[in-house]
Amino acid sequence: MTIFEALNLSAIFVLVLVSPMTGSFLKCWADRAASGKSVVDGRSFCDGCDKTLAARDLIPILSWVLAGGKSRCCATPLRWTLLTPEITSLLLAVWAVLTVPLHLMLPSLIIAWLLQAIALLAVPAPRIATILGMILAIFGLGLSLFGVTGDLDTRLLGFALGLLCATVAWTGASDPRSRYLQAATFLPAIGSLLGVGLMGLAIGIGVILALLHNAVSRMIRRDGEDPVPPATSLAIGLAGGTWLAWIYGIDLVRSLANTFQLMSALD
Ligand SMILES: [Zn+2]
Repeated sequence: MTIFEALNLSAIFVLVLVSPMTGSFLKCWADRAASGKSVVDGRSFCDGCDKTLAARDLIPILSWVLAGGKSRCCATPLRWTLLTPEITSLLLAVWAVLTVPLHLMLPSLIIAWLLQAIALLAVPAPRIATILGMILAIFGLGLSLFGVTGDLDTRLLGFALGLLCATVAWTGASDPRSRYLQAATFLPAIGSLLGVGLMGLAIGIGVILALLHNAVSRMIRRDGEDPVPPATSLAIGLAGGTWLAWIYGIDLVRSLANTFQLMSALD
């Protein structure tokens, strides 16, 4: 094993291991941004009684499950949305390791993290989400440039198209009625990761997932919680669509091309 391979494998191992914590951190960042606080603003408090949380209350996934979905101090029911980002992070990391070839594992873990960060921050911290979206877009172009993924031309075209649509959306987003357009912050990154062809597929799946997300979050919402804004659902849906197209899109295109070739051979 070369040093590069060893470093690659250790990075993959560490990223999978810390994934529930990164999900928890992103959710905390999003919640604090939503209430106008900084992510480094001191300790975490109970939403019910404002008591400072102990370390044992902050273990991702386990704390939520062991406490039975209620806070230990005052038995306030904990929000589902405190648990779902932690599970999602872990799920995406394991998913990547189980499905993509070795040379795509580390890029996939980085993409999973950035997608989740942008999805969670798109509404409460649009500026940070836009910066992360641009980082993801440059990362996508870099993967293509260094031959990790496919054709650079279609990705540059996708990036340009995404940037154009996002700019139009950002100009319109100052209008409060079009706040769902904040999710457009994803578009340049989708184009540069997937290329212009798969971009449409990712957005299509994303819109379906967004509708599903909004319906499910209405169903599991507890009394007194604010409803999930449509823009959040759209951002989460687009992240999901991008992820599915990133993991399965190239195989899908290849098998469609094969089917097409077979059909034209039969004619
Ligand atoms: Zn409490």
